Amino acid sequence: MSVKINENYQLLKANYIFSEIDQRVEDYQNDHPQSDIIRMGVGDVTRPLTPTVEEAFRNAVREMGDPETFRGYGPYQGYDFLLDNIIEKDYASLGIKLERSEVFVSDGAKCDTGNIQEIFALDNKVAVTDPVYPVYVDSNVMAGRTGPMGDDGRYQNLVYLPCTEENGFVPELPQEEVDLIYLCYPNNPTGTTLTKEELKEWVDYARDHKSIILFDAAYESYIREDHIPHSIYEVEGAREVAIEFRSFSKNAGFTGTRCAFTVVPEELTGYDVDGKSHNLNQMWFRRQTTKFNGVSYPVQVAAQAVYSPEGQEEIKKTVDYYMNNASIIYNSLKTIGLKVHGGVNSPYIWVKTPEKMNSWQFFDLLLENVQIVGTPGVGFGPSGEGYFRLTAFNTLKNTEEAMERLSKLAI
Ligand SMILES: *Cc1c(COP(=O)(O)O)cnc(C)c1O
Repeated sequence: MSVKINENYQLLKANYIFSEIDQRVEDYQNDHPQSDIIRMGVGDVTRPLTPTVEEAFRNAVREMGDPETFRGYGPYQGYDFLLDNIIEKDYASLGIKLERSEVFVSDGAKCDTGNIQEIFALDNKVAVTDPVYPVYVDSNVMAGRTGPMGDDGRYQNLVYLPCTEENGFVPELPQEEVDLIYLCYPNNPTGTTLTKEELKEWVDYARDHKSIILFDAAYESYIREDHIPHSIYEVEGAREVAIEFRSFSKNAGFTGTRCAFTVVPEELTGYDVDGKSHNLNQMWFRRQTTKFNGVSYPVQVAAQAVYSPEGQEEIKKTVDYYMNNASIIYNSLKTIGLKVHGGVNSPYIWVKTPEKMNSWQFFDLLLENVQIVGTPGVGFGPSGEGYFRLTAFNTLKNTEEAMERLSKLAI
């Protein structure tokens, strides 16, 4: 006998996009040692933790080193001081009422969006928007919910909802019945949003079909336009059909600190093979308490500080900083005649590649001519072909320099 692997892992696409990008950049750099490459591809932030957050973090670390204030394992779902801030400031302010038992503090929206599929059966039909944040797809591949990827870049048994210029990046309701629907708004990678009316169609679909929407709102704090919903629970009936994921990564610079949370309303219901209904909140509680022991106390204190008046003021500046970059990128690309999407309620700018050029050709063009690195859209799914993602997460100086270079590019 020998140990057998989880064969589903064999189905994962071998060349993860970011390693291919790194390879091409490295090759270029080796050939051009003098070149000054500006990276606008990766989705990591650059602004540090703000002073208020850092100070709270430090003080909490000190508490951990003092026998009088030391804390061991925390409450399963997170400390009340953080839960109450989330409930008050993220949701009550929108007119949404949540109980502490409905909020689960975690170490990342990536983990939660990747793990959530565990509480659902393998024969559920899963729908994803295309292009898509790869975590939703790959976690379902690993679990065995798909077949292999076909030549069209689509995994068998997964329902793709194309989001392109043709439909204004608004996914159409699926023709076939689907059980789990991943939506991410403001969207990564396209930077586009859904209005409340557009989101309502999905909520209504889910209510009609007894489906569940997995709503990733990691970029909620980038919303600038008043008519764009900040939470799916702003839509009537969403509490019956939606799980919402949020994170401190993109608004407060927690990508290396790790804190996020997931909202699982008490009304959410799934069904067993006999058609009997089950409470999904309890299932997620069971899952988390079995496999996860919570976010460290100092990190939760740091996250709480994000909600203080000073913290709010500071993170607003952080987000404003990136959004200023976003508008610089957006306007510069428009000026040179490219078709641009996103960038208004999101740090992502989704560019249509020029006539007859595919995603990777445009990648090479920018790398070789202006030494700018972005992400080929096709890496996010087949409908991303012909598009290219730039992020606003670089410094202002680099963003300005990059756009200065681009302005001289003849397209
Ligand atoms: C960055 C990002 C997250 C946040 O992940 P964390 O694990 O909280 O850092 C979640 N969803 C999307 C789509 C993202 O781009």
